[in-house]
Amino acid sequence: GLILGIESSCDETAAAVVRVGSEALSNVVASQMSLHANYGGVVPELASREHLRNIVPVVREAMSRASAAAGHPITFADLDAVAVTAGPGLAGALLVGITYAKALTFGLDKPLISVNHLEGHIHAVLMETRQLNELPMELPLLALVVSGGHTHLYLATHEQGGETNWTYRNVGRTVDDAAGEAYDKVAKLLGLGYPGGPWIDALAPHGNPRAVPFTFGEIKHRAPREGVTNKKAPTNTEGPHFDFSFSGIKTAVLRYVETHNMRDSIEARRAVLAADPTLTPKSEAVIKLCDQQTLDLIASFQYAVVGNLQRQTFAAAEALGARSIVVSGGVAANSELRRRLQAEADRRNLPIAFPSLALSTDNAAMIAAAAWPKLLARDFASEDLGATPQLRLGRQ
Ligand code: ATP
Ligand code: MG
Ligand code: FE
Repeated sequence: GLILGIESSCDETAAAVVRVGSEALSNVVASQMSLHANYGGVVPELASREHLRNIVPVVREAMSRASAAAGHPITFADLDAVAVTAGPGLAGALLVGITYAKALTFGLDKPLISVNHLEGHIHAVLMETRQLNELPMELPLLALVVSGGHTHLYLATHEQGGETNWTYRNVGRTVDDAAGEAYDKVAKLLGLGYPGGPWIDALAPHGNPRAVPFTFGEIKHRAPREGVTNKKAPTNTEGPHFDFSFSGIKTAVLRYVETHNMRDSIEARRAVLAADPTLTPKSEAVIKLCDQQTLDLIASFQYAVVGNLQRQTFAAAEALGARSIVVSGGVAANSELRRRLQAEADRRNLPIAFPSLALSTDNAAMIAAAAWPKLLARDFASEDLGATPQLRLGRQ
């Protein structure tokens, strides 16, 4: 049951070797974060070029670390399958991983397994709960996948008797920005570093979350089907939905900054951070770069975003009869989100699980883990597998 997972959908080139869908023998991630930081977001052309540069050494490293972890050499010949992210993501970036995985499986005469990146995020959590020998999450489970590119709610279950045949229903999605994207844009606006999540997470406890009352309006029109970016595309109104919108709060923060004369202090902070790359979100000096008004704004922003994620998640869980909750994606690293979701889940007696920090952001162990039920079901990809930038997960 050895699967090599490969992930290159966005700005991480990653490879991992996972045994029986639960034990990561290695999990190697080459992040391009610092490359894209100069642009405040991921630049697709640069991403593809970096993936090309990184894919071979990253896979090699994953194989050698797996050997070290196993205590004996693990070669390509020992693999049972190679799993790769087929979408959603950047077309050029996805193609690097897919092309590599196809060449490898063709050469080795091993099965190729295609994995949806979002399913990977969900299985990142499931593989860890299995590994810790905790009870399997009760079904149906509600998964909140919340990252820089996604904010989705899925109701997930699988057939009795085996873990093959997982099925998913997309019951909520953002009508505009993803939650992580709002973190990144607000952090950039306030002169903080990229990615913005860890900066806001670290600074928010120093401010008053009730200083600025941000609100979320009712979402009148259902978001276009997952992955469809054309806002005029026909929408699907079937069944209850628990959609999100994060562009309004970003605009509200911008308006607050403009009406409260904060420009100079923001520029000053931006200049200090640009001049000293050793400053991290947790540096003492960073707090001193922020006046109380800024800290209050940051705390209020986070309080509102987390509150919105919390409300929609538990409303969906209740309406759909979910029996457990799984949270994943880069924003799942957020300490306030973890604290408040855990507290409400405890109050409601619902089991809830979060990934470790290493498995919350993009990685390949989660891709190999999601491929395990597909290996058991012999659900293999054909050799003409291509990239699907707007790949959806499950029923809409
Ligand atoms: P994708 O959306 O395709 O999964 P991504 O690279 O945008 O790709 P991740 O790597 O899963 O997503 O996560 C990155 C995002 O998570 C960024 O938007 C970042 O700001 C956010 N993030 C990371 N840590 C935190 C945190 N502690 N609090 C809030 N947001 C965070
Ligand atoms: Mg990323
Ligand atoms: Fe991701």
